[in-house]
Amino acid sequence: MDIADRFEADVVIMGAGLTGLSAAMSLAEKHPGVSVIVLSKVHPLRSHSGAAQGGINAAVALEDKWEDHYYDTLKGGGFLGDQDAVQILTWNAPDAIYSLDRWGANFSRDPDGAFAQRPFGGQRRNRTCYVADKTGHALLNALYEQCVKKGVRFFDEWYVFSLITESDCLLGFLAFHNVTGRIGYFASRAGLVATGGAGRVYGQSSNALINTGDGMSLCLRAGVPLKDIEFFQIHPTGLPNGILITEGARGEGGYLVNAAGERFMKRYAPEFMELAPRDLVARSIQQEINEGRDYGDGCVRLDLRHLGEEKITSRLSQIRQIAMHFAGVDPVLDPIPVRPTVHYTMGGIDVDINCSTAVNGLFAAGEGSCVSVHGANRLGGNSLLETVVFGVRSGEVIPEFISSQPEPDRTHENTLLHDALSQFASLFGDEGTENVPDLRREMEKVMVGSFGLFRTGESMKAGLDHIRQLVDRFRFVRVPEAGLVFNSHLLHTLELRSMLDVAHACATAALTRTESRGGHYRLDFPLIDNQNFLKHSIVNMNPSGRMGLSYRDVTIVDTEPLDDIRY
Ligand SMILES: Cc1cc2nc3c(=O)[nH]c(=O)nc-3n(C[C@H](O)[C@H](O)[C@H](O)COP(=O)(O)OP(=O)(O)OC[C@H]3O[C@@H](n4cnc5c(N)ncnc54)[C@H](O)[C@@H]3O)c2cc1C
Repeated sequence: MDIADRFEADVVIMGAGLTGLSAAMSLAEKHPGVSVIVLSKVHPLRSHSGAAQGGINAAVALEDKWEDHYYDTLKGGGFLGDQDAVQILTWNAPDAIYSLDRWGANFSRDPDGAFAQRPFGGQRRNRTCYVADKTGHALLNALYEQCVKKGVRFFDEWYVFSLITESDCLLGFLAFHNVTGRIGYFASRAGLVATGGAGRVYGQSSNALINTGDGMSLCLRAGVPLKDIEFFQIHPTGLPNGILITEGARGEGGYLVNAAGERFMKRYAPEFMELAPRDLVARSIQQEINEGRDYGDGCVRLDLRHLGEEKITSRLSQIRQIAMHFAGVDPVLDPIPVRPTVHYTMGGIDVDINCSTAVNGLFAAGEGSCVSVHGANRLGGNSLLETVVFGVRSGEVIPEFISSQPEPDRTHENTLLHDALSQFASLFGDEGTENVPDLRREMEKVMVGSFGLFRTGESMKAGLDHIRQLVDRFRFVRVPEAGLVFNSHLLHTLELRSMLDVAHACATAALTRTESRGGHYRLDFPLIDNQNFLKHSIVNMNPSGRMGLSYRDVTIVDTEPLDDIRY
């Protein structure tokens, strides 16, 4: 196995979702002299960002204030968000919307031409801008077009399988091209990991099949910790097969009802009802199901009928199609069966407010990272916002880094590449005694069973032991020799390696957090514990593959965290 091509650029961006494209756009607009390459394991327009439906938050209305957006985000996240990072997110939000508008995103408008904004969970105002129920699709297309126009160099269908670093300095990315099977080395002064979430570690998920946490795993292996990785968001409303029904459906006025026809949210969140934060709505739905008030099919119902056909077809047309195609239900005539589905990775690659990691020259942003804006639970509409605000920000700080730092020392680059290639080659062979589908199914089951909506110490302990066994058994997986051209066996093996790393880190951090906050809800410790756990978990992987855990204080700027959070 040899490296067929060597490419060079000042900046290599791994990931072509909204984060990677926002960074590329920011670099192209403000630093045209900086050379950029964008790598993506699929065509950029197939990145999961394109599946976002409901919208993107910003205090753009005259009567709204960024300070209110800031507070709602902190409270929704159980006050685990770093307040300096949340300030950057919410203060820059209006500018992000204006930039997207300028780049050609066709936002829905009110009759007077202002941005239309719908209510989303956990927010006290209508703050979510949208493009009908296809927001991600519209934004991704607009940004991709602009990047192509600016001449950004894209390498589509290149799968990155190793980060090359020396003495905590990034040297480059090692990848293979699915289409030709060539292995390429992308040497760079700086790199941005923008690889999105890892929701596929669970069996039931709204995430694309490609959301396997590759960037998180590669960073862990390069010595960068994961932060707050025990916090996964379980979205309240998925179809029985996991496909998402956007929160926008409740934002437009949809009701959640149990089999008795009761709008049960009045018992759990009397003020916010269906628009309480997601963790609370998801637990409420699951409790209704667990206590037998479902429709006999493990689902409650989302009723949109009172909105009328006109509104459903103009504001929620994709949702209508999804419900018809995947659940056989026309929401104009019948309520949609829904149940919680895994949706979002709050934790991720540990970065500071300038997107820097522990490795010099290596930056990360977007869902794959944890700059800590979402805390323990993300508010709907804040993730698209994060991709643009921190994507653009990384495009501003990386050129500063490049101009202020010397070239990395590449004396040992060839040896490092040789070692990385040998490790890659060792995945191949005929003598494998374990197989990927079995290990994957077991991992998904453990994650759903032990690290789902309701967690307990006992079940998480058993879950962690089981994940450790799976990590061990993975050593006996081999990919039969079949070249590198669209070798799905190879892709699934690499993706499973990534997911096992994320699952292992999640289980390690979850077991030790003896409190409940946001996406981490423990039946044996049901209360928030600011005394002991107003802290970020930091998980490192040591060279033998074991995980180490430490904690870091949350950054407080001006807002006292509440001990009792109510909606
Ligand atoms: C169904 C759904 C609906 C959503 N709706 C909303 C919403 O309405 N509002 C909101 O705010 N948020 C929403 N979200 C969340 C939001 O869409 C995502 O958090 C966000 O788009 C992530 O963007 P990203 O750029 O960080 O990653 P992604 O868009 O996931 O892109 C990741 C990129 O990394 C590349 N990549 C990954 N691994 C490798 C590798 N090994 N080698 C090379 N390339 C690699 C991929 O090819 C891809 O280009 C939704 C999410 C889902 C799943």
